[in-house]
Amino acid sequence: MQRAYKYLFGPVPSRRLGRSLGVDLTPFKTCTLNCVFCQLGRTTHKTVARKEYVPVKNVKAELARWVKESGKADYITLSGSGEPTLHSRFGDVLSFIRERTPFSAVLLSNGTLFWISEVRKAACQAEIVKLSLSAWNQDSFDHINRPHAGLKFGQMMDGYRAFRDEFQGKLWIEVFLLWGMNSIPRDVEKIAKLTESIKPDAIHLNTAVRPPAEDFAVPVPRKQMEAMAGLFHPRAKIIAEYSSNKTAEIAANETTIMAMLRRRPCTARQIADVFGMHLNEVAKYLGKLTRTGAVHVQEKGHEAYYAR
Ligand code: SF4
Repeated sequence: MQRAYKYLFGPVPSRRLGRSLGVDLTPFKTCTLNCVFCQLGRTTHKTVARKEYVPVKNVKAELARWVKESGKADYITLSGSGEPTLHSRFGDVLSFIRERTPFSAVLLSNGTLFWISEVRKAACQAEIVKLSLSAWNQDSFDHINRPHAGLKFGQMMDGYRAFRDEFQGKLWIEVFLLWGMNSIPRDVEKIAKLTESIKPDAIHLNTAVRPPAEDFAVPVPRKQMEAMAGLFHPRAKIIAEYSSNKTAEIAANETTIMAMLRRRPCTARQIADVFGMHLNEVAKYLGKLTRTGAVHVQEKGHEAYYAR
């Protein structure tokens, strides 16, 4: 099956955003971080170099075509398989979504480049910006997010606070908690204090419910997550999808993936290629299917294969 779009994927059902059309502005795993919990595996191209990784002209053309073909979504989101703010013209894409489509523009970023004023200015074109914060100092940042050597935690926090002062839209902070790494109350309190200093509109708590880059990235059980949510001001909302979200579309996609895995074990990439889906989309379904025990993971060489 040929993929109809090169830079767009979905719309993907999202707990935070309803139906979200994704826009991917970087090659696979081109990121400033190499988070131990990354659902896309280890970062293969860790960089802080900002450039036009994919031609903005082509991305805009695909967006215009998708709108013309009566595409339906609740939001259009810059996300995908790397860090979108590494793209030197991501602000142009956000402006295009705002001005030339009827949908709201969302930016999902790890926030590491927000100390650069040009990045903050471009991000102001979004209606909603989600930034990540799972550490409380340079050591925990190095341990959990494994940043590019040029990135400093304190500088990143200054960037977050400066952005809050400049940004009129909705700012969300996502905190990713991992059992034994940043989940004891004393550490969560430090993250909560930093989060409060950024004055976000909402705080989202997530954990490793989908297969992570590293086996030692263990999810925090729901009960503990609920206790941690109360340490944040405003109170954090748990967005980790522990239980099933039964929309007809999800069920349909799960059934097709299951039918394929019944025939032979496949990697996430193989499933994505066969169905013309984005890897993020596939990871979402596989996460749920592995959690419920419907499929299991087999390691072969350096590859993870999913099987019935
Ligand atoms: S979780 Fe996001 S920020 Fe972290 S390595 Fe993966 S893509 Fe990059």
